[in-house]
This record gives sequence, structure tokens and C-alpha cells, in this order.
Amino acid sequence: MPMFDYSCGKCNHEFEELVISSTTPDNEIQCPECKEFQSNRQLSAPAVSVGYSDSSPSASSGCGAPGGSGFG
Ligand SMILES: [Zn+2]
Repeated sequence: MPMFDYSCGKCNHEFEELVISSTTPDNEIQCPECKEFQSNRQLSAPAVSVGYSDSSPSASSGCGAPGGSGFG
């Protein structure tokens, strides 16, 4: 099950909440600190590579039959 980071809009407390459904509205998430329903889901930044020169050797072994052997 997915866990989301939440930030309380009342006491600014940050916590993680296990959310059963990804469509659970934020106002159903209770702050464990002040028990208020003013949580805001934090958007986790996607993992991006920082200027990484990725040059993979394109060495494909052209030997053998292309995946999927089947006769008839
Ligand atoms: Zn709070």
C-alpha cells in the first residue's frame, strides 16, 4: 500500500500516512499531532538524474533468432 507524506496545515507537522486508496481526499487524513483534518499531501519530486552523461555501449549481439521461436 502506498504511503504519502503529509503536512499539517494547522501545526505544520509532517507525517506519513498509509493511504488505502490513492483517491483518498486530504481532508480525511488526520494529523497525529493536533488531530486536525487539514493535511496537505506533499508531492514527492521524481528522481531525476543531475546532468549525468549516460553513454551505454550499444553492443547488441546479433547472433541467434529474435525472441519468439515457434513453428506452426
Ligand atoms: Zn497538526
